[in-house]
Amino acid sequence: MAAKVRFGLLVAMFQAMSGDKRSAKKRARLRAFLDRAYVPSGGRDDYFSALRLVLPGLDRERGTYGLKEAALAAVLVDALGIAKDSPDAVRLINWRRSGGGRNAGNFALVSAEVLQRRQGITSGGLTIKEVNDALYLLAATENRSEKATILSSLIKKTNALEMKWLLMIILKDLKLGISEKSIFDEFHPDAQDLFNVTCDLKFVCEKLNDRSQRHKRQDIEVGKAVRPQLAMRVRDASAAWKKLHGKQVVAECKFDGDRIQIHKKGEEIHFFSRSFLDHSEYAPGMSKIIKENILVDRCILDGEMLVWDTVLNRFAEFGSNQEIAKAAREGLETDRQQCIDVAFDILYAGDTSVIHQSLTERQEILQKVVKPLKGHLEILIPTGGLNVRRPSDELCWSIIAHNLEDVEKFFKDTIDNRDEGIILKDLASKWEPGDRNGKWLKLKPDYIHAGADLDVIIIGGYYGSGRRGGEVAQFLVGLAVPSDDNSYPKRFLSFCRVGTGLSDEERDALVTKLKPYFRKNEYPKKPPKFYEVTNNSKERPDVWIESPDKSVIISVTSDIRTIKSEVFAAPYCLRFPRIQRVRYDKPWHECLDVQAFVDIVHSSNGT
Ligand code: ATP
Repeated sequence: MAAKVRFGLLVAMFQAMSGDKRSAKKRARLRAFLDRAYVPSGGRDDYFSALRLVLPGLDRERGTYGLKEAALAAVLVDALGIAKDSPDAVRLINWRRSGGGRNAGNFALVSAEVLQRRQGITSGGLTIKEVNDALYLLAATENRSEKATILSSLIKKTNALEMKWLLMIILKDLKLGISEKSIFDEFHPDAQDLFNVTCDLKFVCEKLNDRSQRHKRQDIEVGKAVRPQLAMRVRDASAAWKKLHGKQVVAECKFDGDRIQIHKKGEEIHFFSRSFLDHSEYAPGMSKIIKENILVDRCILDGEMLVWDTVLNRFAEFGSNQEIAKAAREGLETDRQQCIDVAFDILYAGDTSVIHQSLTERQEILQKVVKPLKGHLEILIPTGGLNVRRPSDELCWSIIAHNLEDVEKFFKDTIDNRDEGIILKDLASKWEPGDRNGKWLKLKPDYIHAGADLDVIIIGGYYGSGRRGGEVAQFLVGLAVPSDDNSYPKRFLSFCRVGTGLSDEERDALVTKLKPYFRKNEYPKKPPKFYEVTNNSKERPDVWIESPDKSVIISVTSDIRTIKSEVFAAPYCLRFPRIQRVRYDKPWHECLDVQAFVDIVHSSNGT
C-alpha cells in the first residue's frame, strides 16, 4: 500500500543522493524510488505525498512553518527539553559558528550532531503519510510550544538521520545537488511544463501519475498562478543589443518592488507573488480598484507592486508593500503611502489566454482592458503611456529602442534616477511561463569596485547571538548630510550594517567606549533626531548612539558595492562591508558626507 511507504526509504534515497557526484546517478535513484515504492503497490495516486517532501519549496498545500534556522533552533531546544544555556542548546543557536566545528553554517548537520547524542540509529518506522500529517500540524499552529511538542514527538519516532532530513524539509532546502527540472523530468516528461502553468504540485502529481501517458501542453487558467517569465542578466548594453540583434525592442525601467500577478475572475481576485503565494493582504486596498478598472470579467495582469507616495505624487523610494497592505487590512491609516500596481504585461483577457501573442499585441490588449487609475493602477506602455510623473519630467518609463545609443541613454538616465536598472524585451516575443532564456534581458549596474576606505560614523548597534549575546556585535553606520551653513553636520543618513573586521579586543574596546551612550531602541519611539532612517524594520538597531558627537568614526571597506539601497536611508549601500580600523583619531564631524560618497560611486561606476 502506498500509504505505508516508509519515510526511512525516502531518507535513504536522500542520503545516497547527497553522496553522489554525478547528476545521472541522482536522477536514477529518484526514478528507482518512485518506481519501487509506488508503482508495484498501485499507489501512483500518492506520488504527491513523496514529491512534496522532495520539492518542499514548491508545496503550497500546507501553510508556512514560520521556522527559519533561528526559530527552529529555539523550538528544537524546547523539543529536546535541554537548558537554554547547555552546550548543545548554544551549539544549535550558534549554528553558524557552532564552536568552529566542521559543520558550522549548516543547520541540519549541526542539529544532527546534537540529535545523534540523543537518538538511536534504528528507524522509528514512520511512514511518509505520518510525516506529512505531522508537518501539517506544524504549519497549522503559530504557537511555539505547540510546535515544540510536535517536533518532540517526531524526535521520539525517528532516528538522527531521519530527523536531519526532516529539518531540511522544514527549512525547504535539501541541498541534494539536483535541479527542480531533473526531479520533474524523472517523474514525468511533462511535469515541469504543467507545473509552470499551474504552480500546483498536487495537481501535477495527480494528473501525470502515469509516465507513459503524455499530456497535451496546457494553457494558463485564471485563478491558478503561473510561473513568471524572468529576465536574463547581461553584462552591458552592447551585449544586450547584440543578443537582440535585428529585433524590435522595448526598453523598460526595472521597477524595484514585488512581482505580482493579479488574477481577476469575476468577483474573485488573487495576488500571486513570484513564489506563487496568494497575498490576500492586498485585497482590502486593491480588490475594488481591480474590479472597477479592469474592463473584462476574467484577466491576468503581470506587473510589479510598488509603494506610491500620495504627497509627492510619485513612487516612494522606501516603504514596504506588505506593511502598507497589512495596515490597510487592519483599517489603519497609512499617511501618504499606498500600494500601486504597475502592469507591464497581460496574460489573459476575457475568455482567452494571450500569452501566445506578441508583446506588441499584448500591449494593445493591455491598453484596451485596463483603465489606469493614478496612484493605484498603471500600465507600462512605451513612450509616455504611463501617466506617472518621474522625478525628472523628461524621462519615460519605457521606450522603443532603435539602436544601441537609445539603450545606453535610457540605461544611464534610469541609473541617474536611482532606479534599479532596465529590462529589454523583444516586442515579437510570446510570454513564456518560467522562462529565463533571453527574451527579456536585464541590465543592472549592480557591482562596481570600491577603491577608497570610507570613514563613516557609528549611529547604532545590534546585539550578537550566542557568545556575543547581549553585547553589541555589529554597528549601524551613517553618512553625514552636509550642513548649509558650513557648520558641523546635524543630520546623518543610515548607510549600512557592519560587523566583521575587528578583533575581539578591538571590538570590546570600541563597545566599552560607546556603551555609556547607548540608548535602547524602544518601539515606537523615534530614533534620536540626528538620524534619518527608513521605515524598513531590518534597519532598526537594538541601540542608538545618543548623539553623533559622542560617537566614533570607523573606516569601512568593501570589495563590491551595490548600487541602490533598499533598506537604509542613504541612496547606495555597501555589499560585504568590513571594518578596516577604528578612527579614534578622527573627530566625529569629519564623517564622510553623502554627496562625497555619491561622487565616489559615480566615479568608480564610470558615470
Ligand atoms: P535580481 O534582483 O537578483 O536581479 P530579480 O528578482 O529582479 O533578480 P529577475 O528575473 O532578474 O528577478 O528580474 C525580473 C524581475 O524584475 C521581475 O520578477 C519583476 O519583479 C522585476 N521587474 C521590474 N520591472 C520590470 C519590468 N518592466 N518588466 C519585467 N520585470 C520587471
